Amino acid sequence: MRLRDVVAGANASMYYRTDFRRIKAVYYPQTERDAVEAIAKAREMGYDVTPKGAGSGLSGACTGGNRDRVIITTLRMNRVLSISPDHTYADVQPGATPDEINAVLAPSTMRFHVTPSSRDVATVGGMLSTDSGGNDAWLHGTMRDNTLRAKILTYDGKQIEVGREGVRCEDTSLEDDLNRKALTLNDIADAHGLLGFVTELRLALKPIGDETVMAGLVECTDISELGSVVQDIISAKIPVTYGETVIYAHPDIRGSLNPPLLVLEFPEAHLRDLQSITRLRMLTREELAELKDIRLKLAKRTPKRGLQISLFEDYGFYGHNLSRLQERVERIDSYLREHSFEPLAKYGHAPTKWYMGDNTQANGIIMHSNEIKQPRQSSSDVFETAMGLVRLCEELGVTPKPEHKWIYSDYAKLARIRELREVIGGGFNSFILDPDCGAVLSTMIQ
Ligand SMILES: Cc1cc2nc3c(=O)[nH]c(=O)nc-3n(C[C@H](O)[C@H](O)[C@H](O)COP(=O)(O)OP(=O)(O)OC[C@H]3O[C@@H](n4cnc5c(N)ncnc54)[C@H](O)[C@@H]3O)c2cc1C
Repeated sequence: MRLRDVVAGANASMYYRTDFRRIKAVYYPQTERDAVEAIAKAREMGYDVTPKGAGSGLSGACTGGNRDRVIITTLRMNRVLSISPDHTYADVQPGATPDEINAVLAPSTMRFHVTPSSRDVATVGGMLSTDSGGNDAWLHGTMRDNTLRAKILTYDGKQIEVGREGVRCEDTSLEDDLNRKALTLNDIADAHGLLGFVTELRLALKPIGDETVMAGLVECTDISELGSVVQDIISAKIPVTYGETVIYAHPDIRGSLNPPLLVLEFPEAHLRDLQSITRLRMLTREELAELKDIRLKLAKRTPKRGLQISLFEDYGFYGHNLSRLQERVERIDSYLREHSFEPLAKYGHAPTKWYMGDNTQANGIIMHSNEIKQPRQSSSDVFETAMGLVRLCEELGVTPKPEHKWIYSDYAKLARIRELREVIGGGFNSFILDPDCGAVLSTMIQ
């Protein structure tokens, strides 16, 4: 494992420039005991800890900012510790990836069902900390829905077991205090490591679906129609097993795609329900595989001129925003163009599910967005435009999926984390709570 690879990780965020002199130590624990020792070393040296999984998070949180800090990576804590006799849950270390866990489960018919596109690298510790979900989150939920309990370490080395109902801890006074605050897994989910270092997770396993599925393509006349179709599928609660949209693709990268479109895989029993909502062109298995591949590669395509960048990454359109999708997307695009960015690609999971900072559920479209940056645009231009987008989304009522820029704009979650850190303590990723967090991140854009 090369040090540079651990520090940068699979960083696909725009915060890529790191001052390596400010990283005071990097630890690679293999066990919980090693993690306790690593945290104790950081505490003795007086440094904040950056917990790190694969580094595939897109918000910049996993970089630890550019302050003096110690990185503790879970890349060597990747074992499946045990599987329950009835195969309904598995206890795993935080550095295991969904692909690794499902490879261990392969001889059985049970699987771990949170599979983000980054499932080959993203760790379950990082995924819980960002409340990750795959393109079947509509059916299987996000990480919090599939985690039964998590063990976390505090900066002063205490082990806390957090479940759906509350907390257990050897320090009974801390346990009482945290239960009075009603700390549950909902708080740990998408806390970006601010509440402690996750050392073990109990993950729910579910059977592989054995129903016959079919696939179809909805080619919409405009973006509003696409929003309405997604809204109708959500209202009808159709258990779509795979749902992806391509809302826009720049002529440089469009190829044979004809957006806006919606690719759906669904149980055969729901064909009529879908046909009563929209016109569906049936797809063969090969055509579906090809469209899935195009969708995955869309994020990697480059424009003929300028650089590809993702200023905001994820837009969560739900509720009344689905019926006003065209107008919302146009407002965002005109904002981008006013700031000299050109839209490159907009695509994403739909119908899907995510949680807001106050733990309420949202159902709709998670739209990923990539833009073209001109060479003359400086790091501060980029950062200010990104923060302007955060403000525009607040005004439009479009929520970032919690993973991405929420940490700088989801005031309900931030307030709750501050409240809990008064009891549990800090010591992890504290830069996120600093007033100059944005200024620091803006220096990390290349
Ligand atoms: C190509 C690509 C595709 C993606 N697709 C999806 C997708 O489909 N769905 C989706 O939800 N996301 C997706 N993501 C985002 C990303 O993969 C997820 O956010 C993932 O959950 C992060 O896991 P990680 O191990 O890389 O965590 P990191 O990026 O290393 O860390 C993320 C956060 O968790 C904290 N953290 C990590 N480990 C621990 C721990 N043990 N204890 C406490 N805190 C910890 C970090 O400090 C940081 O704040 C994608 C990213 C890429 C690059």
